[in-house]
Amino acid sequence: MRILKTLTLRGPNYWSVRHPQLIVIRLDLEVFADQRSDQIDGLAEGLAEILPSLKTPGPSYRRRFLERVEEGISLAEVVEHVALELQTLADMPVSFGRTKETKTAGIHQVVFEYENEQSGRYAARAAVRLANSLAKTGGYPASELKQDLADLRDLQAEASLGPSTETIIQEVERRGIPWMPLQSRAMIQLGHGVYQQRLQATLSSRTGILGVELACDKEGTKQILKNAGVPVPRGTVIYYLDELADAIDRVGGFPIVIKPLDGNHGRGITIDINGWDQAEAAYEAAKDVSKGVIVERFYRGRDHRILVINGRVVAVAERVPAHVVGDGRSTIDELIEEANRDPRRGEGHANVLTLLTVDRTTWQLFENKGYDLDTVLPDGEICYLRSTANLSTGGIAIDRTDEIHPHNVWLAQRIAKLIGLDIAGIDVVTSDISQPLRQIDGVIVEVNAAPGFRMHFSPSEGIPRNVAEPVIEMLFPPGQPSRIPIVAITGTNGKTTTTRLTAHIFQQTQKVVGYTTTDGIYINEHLVEPGDTTGPQSAQVVLQDPTVEIAVLETARGGILRSGIAFDACDVGVVLNVAADHLGLGDIDTVEEMAQVKGVIAEVTRPKGYAVLNADDERVAAMAERTKAQIAYFSMQPDSELVQRHTEAGGLAAVYENGYLTILKGDWILRIEQAVHLPLTMGGRAPFMIANALAASLAAFSQGVSIEEIRLALLTFRASAAQTPGRMNLFDLGNFHALVDYAHNPASYEALAGFVQNWPGQRIGVIGGPGDRRDEDFITLGRLSAQMFDRVIVKEDDDTRGRPRGEAADYIIKGLETVGDCRYESILRESEAIEVALDSAPAGSLVVILPESVRQAIKLIEARNPVPQAPPSP
Ligand code: ATP
Ligand code: ATP
Ligand code: MG
Ligand code: MG
Repeated sequence: MRILKTLTLRGPNYWSVRHPQLIVIRLDLEVFADQRSDQIDGLAEGLAEILPSLKTPGPSYRRRFLERVEEGISLAEVVEHVALELQTLADMPVSFGRTKETKTAGIHQVVFEYENEQSGRYAARAAVRLANSLAKTGGYPASELKQDLADLRDLQAEASLGPSTETIIQEVERRGIPWMPLQSRAMIQLGHGVYQQRLQATLSSRTGILGVELACDKEGTKQILKNAGVPVPRGTVIYYLDELADAIDRVGGFPIVIKPLDGNHGRGITIDINGWDQAEAAYEAAKDVSKGVIVERFYRGRDHRILVINGRVVAVAERVPAHVVGDGRSTIDELIEEANRDPRRGEGHANVLTLLTVDRTTWQLFENKGYDLDTVLPDGEICYLRSTANLSTGGIAIDRTDEIHPHNVWLAQRIAKLIGLDIAGIDVVTSDISQPLRQIDGVIVEVNAAPGFRMHFSPSEGIPRNVAEPVIEMLFPPGQPSRIPIVAITGTNGKTTTTRLTAHIFQQTQKVVGYTTTDGIYINEHLVEPGDTTGPQSAQVVLQDPTVEIAVLETARGGILRSGIAFDACDVGVVLNVAADHLGLGDIDTVEEMAQVKGVIAEVTRPKGYAVLNADDERVAAMAERTKAQIAYFSMQPDSELVQRHTEAGGLAAVYENGYLTILKGDWILRIEQAVHLPLTMGGRAPFMIANALAASLAAFSQGVSIEEIRLALLTFRASAAQTPGRMNLFDLGNFHALVDYAHNPASYEALAGFVQNWPGQRIGVIGGPGDRRDEDFITLGRLSAQMFDRVIVKEDDDTRGRPRGEAADYIIKGLETVGDCRYESILRESEAIEVALDSAPAGSLVVILPESVRQAIKLIEARNPVPQAPPSP
């Protein structure tokens, strides 16, 4: 078996709305296509032997799984379960999985959850490798499995955002605030659009650059604090070795501390220096890190970190340098090894504690005591491996939040303000944090910007503190929203038009509207980026924009299938219609399956929001069952039973009645405007445009936009060639009209027919379709054309997409002939076909062109000087 294709879904999707993070593989079972698990010797036993955990209770996918393997299931399902189990075993608990055979026998879609996407994709490959080996040999080497699990863990660790960020994200998710990584500087965005805030580790968008620079300048910090009466170590800065002796005198002689002027993480620091040789060595060590060197009096005491967030002390920790405690039997080396066996210890910042290592400082400390690694420590004796208490060098942290003296609280809060930091880590050396600092000769040694949170939320001893909460409360105080309204629009036809119209309506409210369409991303009237931008990445551009107050997102099938949608929930989910188009792509083969894809938009609409559904489309109306949102129906039928029942129960709807576009709110009838007055509906003659306008109006109305604003927007929105090229662009050529439209599936031809049939004069069609459509689609196009036009010119696209020239035209003609009384001719070159049609159009007629190249068609028409369109009426 082998993987044909791998998709990584990152948002609500076709398979699940509640499990956004899914890997989807297209798996070809090859020789195992017809063999079930019970027909392969030794497979069930082999699986139970390699992954015995499958037998144990735990995640739901394990239940009865091995029994089912014995009874006989497809190997694709085995791959699904193995992929889940590998991740669970690598400490990434996952549970959701699905397997579905495609239309092609032997090819399956295997879907499973991931926690980390790199690990998820790896798990897919590893699961297939394991299943292949099992099926062929009945086993899988234990060493391979071990390596797989190690690789899965490594990939996860590499992707980790760091412990402080992870804990903040947990809090963010608990509060339902959306977040996303930004592709730069490990920054993350919290919230959407205009309400967004940013974080980078524990720097926030509120953190001021002056405060950070000051904190990084230890000497400057000390000066500011000293001037404000805060106790700081007596000290001085030197740049040359020959200043050292003098400096030691100035701070009052030994013991002293020597450290780099701008260093961190304890690098280059030597404390408790008691003699000249040691001082000289310490000077050199500090000099390696920074040009300037601080010489300070050494203050005996314990090391504390006070964390101040948004003006309040939120946690206090005592930090103890890396050390081991003797037992009277083991050597120091053995004690270190023993300590490192603690599963909480790991490399760097990723774990609760960091591994103990031996370095220059350790040897120096040993030297002072006359120890080496083979020394056996007496029972109970503490041997320090570092002189500073950084967690990243193996230190431990003890929570002291409940012990700090109120005077010290006041002092710390004042210090954070003096330095100008919203999030500050204040390093204090004092023998007892529960005594006022000044009374017992304690000092502030440093103030840190971007302090680590690990020692507070997972201290080695004492109560863990939720220090993420005050950060989020600072960035999003009560009452401050984190989300902008999101309107998502999907359907087979009319998405772009409805998206543009909805955006245009919201613009009447003076809000900044960001929207995505098949033509590009826009913010208000500005084009941000041209292109087919109906996927999640384009939606992200809008949601990440700090000026956007409302997002209106055309959400097409392609993006939903490829990577899921870009947001966890929307306020309005509009589903216009579901018809046969794009079938056979992405393993979506039936209209029912397509409805399932588009229904995701209804499903992710939040309960307080509205799913705006087409009551006239059975499959769309049925989506009401799938959503927890409130429902608003739109319908072209004023007497639609569904709408009547809905409004009688107090529901919201929009209908086309007596020539008006009207909102129904329970018993109330709110008329927006007569359809004939709306440029978009071409004098009321394009019914599907009326339907699109009903949907857009309902979307806006449900978000509080007034009827007056909606009316104004509808009166000023037109489907001009400039605004919406290729979408019902009508040109007045003096004694006849030409229409350019991009209808490209049976449902949109039918919609177009609704307009064409209302045309009073003769109707001429210039038709053809892209070569990659199915034969039957061409026949349908022919049949529908014969019904809608008096005369048809059949043409082909210049790019036949692999079909022999003339074949598509033949199918269309076949369709034309099923109807009979339609005059037709075939002119395969598109430009020629258009010219012939325009040259021969009788007075009062309408020439409808469905071109391959919208631009060329419009150019040919414009060369004939159409009457300029009237400016939009106010
Ligand atoms: P970090 O980045 O972890 O904050 P750092 O490299 O910025 O470390 P400092 O905070 O200045 O260095 O010092 C590290 C530790 O050394 C302090 O937390 C304290 O334990 C000790 N220390 C520094 N200066 C003194 C001093 N004057 N007296 C006593 N101990 C000191
Ligand atoms: P695409 O899949 O190309 O992005 P879309 O869904 O964005 O298409 P539009 O670009 O708005 O749709 O319209 C394309 C064509 O579909 C229109 O020119 C018209 O012929 C037809 N159409 C528009 N609205 C509807 C509708 N509500 N029902 C059926 N057909 C429609
Ligand atoms: Mg420090
Ligand atoms: Mg579109």
